[in-house]
Parts: sequence; structure tokens; C-alpha cells
Amino acid sequence: MQLIDGKKISLLLQEQIAKEVKELIAAEKKQPHLAAILVGNDGGSETYVAAKIKACENVGFKSTLIKHPDYVTEEKLLQSVIDLNNNPDIDGFIVQLPLPRHINEHKIIETILPSKDVDGFHPINVGRMVLNLPCYVSATPFGIVQLLEKYNIETKGKHCVVLGRSHIVGSPMSILLAKNTALGNCTVTLCHSKTENLIEHTRKADIIICALGSPEFLKADMVKDGAVVIDVGTTRVESTETKSGFKLKGDVKFDEVAPKCSFITPVPGGVGPMTIASLIKNTLLAAKKEIYR
Ligand code: NAP
Repeated sequence: MQLIDGKKISLLLQEQIAKEVKELIAAEKKQPHLAAILVGNDGGSETYVAAKIKACENVGFKSTLIKHPDYVTEEKLLQSVIDLNNNPDIDGFIVQLPLPRHINEHKIIETILPSKDVDGFHPINVGRMVLNLPCYVSATPFGIVQLLEKYNIETKGKHCVVLGRSHIVGSPMSILLAKNTALGNCTVTLCHSKTENLIEHTRKADIIICALGSPEFLKADMVKDGAVVIDVGTTRVESTETKSGFKLKGDVKFDEVAPKCSFITPVPGGVGPMTIASLIKNTLLAAKKEIYR
């Protein structure tokens, strides 16, 4: 069994990006600038946004954080998005999800300019991804694809089972791995809460991508020997072992599944750091105008 070290790969990727940023600045080009909009005080969202801002510092990007209280009106939030769209110094920005229930998430995302949508959530970027056109691929699936590539994990002809069909992880993941590209050509089965006999699918899988948000869902008897298991799940559970009073649990019962795998990602330290590195990479592409000219 080999552990896939997402933290290490993420730091290597950030080092490469930092080098490119230095070259851009030396050539008197613009310093890349990422902005984040954060609504409310959800602990998880605050932690994720803080990690994204920290990554900007690490690679030499400028960053801007715009905070709104959880009672912000949809109109005011839309205005924040429009202001960032119109600000020529901002190369890309994200609106940290989830948003409070009184705000229409789709309306907010559809207001972001596709050329600044470095999370890759806008329908134009999703559509371009499906059609194999240049686009921002949403950060978590993009990070997973890069992990598979770095560890030379063969996907061609393999059977991949994706657990979860969300717009930001499971669905794009299933599309990327089924594409006729070097890191694709899998036969993909997409499972969700209405899937019958889910275990029959996972037991046949060469690669399992677990994106449910259900701690320790995937057990040893659901996995065949030699499978590759990618754990996307990050559920905050209370813990007396940490200073913060919580820890992150993955969707995989790691101790019993890991010995059966050829490769497996840990939680934390697997997919999470790659999501951040991929967002930073998308922002660099935005600053260099490589996707939308
Ligand atoms: P989501 O929007 O809640 O979607 C969960 C999906 O899992 C849904 O498609 C749901 O099916 C399915 N599902 C839930 N319980 C199931 C069960 N018992 N059996 C079969 N299918 C089940 O979640 P998400 O946004 O994709 O996130 C999934 C997990 O990944 C969460 O823990 C989240 O925190 C984590 N995450 C991590 C990163 C990272 O960077 N590491 C990034 C994004 C998300 P239905 O569609 O039928 O409801």
C-alpha cells in the first residue's frame, strides 16, 4: 500500500507557482490577485478561506477577503460579486459555499464572470469542461486528477466508481475520468443515495472516489484487493484530542481499508491540500489570461 501524500504534492505545486510569480514580477507583469467572499461565521468555511489566503501568501499572490454577516441581503452580495467582476486588479475570486438559505446560490455563481470564476462553478466553465474546451476545472476534481498523474496511476480501461454526484465534486469527477484524455478513459459508475446494491459496484472498482460527507462509510468488505481509494470526505467531528475541539473525518474507514489498497489518500493531508493548490493554479492561469484571453 502506498499513501498518496497530497500535502507534499500540494507544496511542490505551490513552489512551482511561486517561482512563476517571481518571474512575472521580475518581468514587471502584474502580481496575481485572488479575492474571496465569505458570508457568516461558519467555522469550516472560515478555516477553508484562511487556508486559501495563506496559500496566496506562500506563492506571492495578492489576496483580498470580503466578509459579510450571515444576514447579508442577496442584493448586497450580488453587488460584491459585480464589484469584483469590474475590478481590473482582481484576476479571480471565489464565493465560499455554502451560503445562507435565503440566498440563491445559483444566482450568485451565475453572476461571476466566467473568466474570473477560478472555482470553476459557473455553468459556462462546467459546460466547457464537459466539451473538453479550455476552462477552469473545479478545484477538488482538478486536484484529484493531478494526484493520480503524479503517482502514475493508470486510468485507461479501469473501472472507476465515484460515490456522490454533487456539482462540485462527484459529477465533474465522473466526467473528467471518463474523458478520452491521457488521464481519463475510465469506465465510470456514478453512485448516489438512490443507488441499489452500492457494494456490488464498489467491490468491482479499480479506483474509488469517495465524496459523500458520510464519515467512515467505505469499509474493507466494500473494496477489492489492490484498489486505488481517493477519500474526498471531510466531516468535522467533535474531538477532545485537538486544541480546536474538532477533527476531520474522511468517508473511508482508513485503518481497515488501507491494507487492501494499492494507493490511498489520508484525511487530512490527501485531497484537501490539493484543492487549495488547484485553486491557486487556476488563479495563475487567470492572471496569465491562458483560458479566457
Ligand atoms: P454533497 O453536495 O452533500 O453531496 C453528497 C453526495 O453523496 C450526494 O450525491 C448524495 O446523494 C451522496 N450520498 C450521501 N450519502 C450517501 C449514501 N449513504 N450512499 C450513497 N450516496 C450518498 O457533498 P459534496 O459537496 O460533494 O462533499 C462531499 C464530501 O466531500 C463532504 O465531506 C465535503 O466536506 C467534502 N469535500 C472536501 C473537499 C476537499 O477539498 N477535501 C472539497 C469539497 C468537498 P444524493 O445526490 O442522492 O443526495
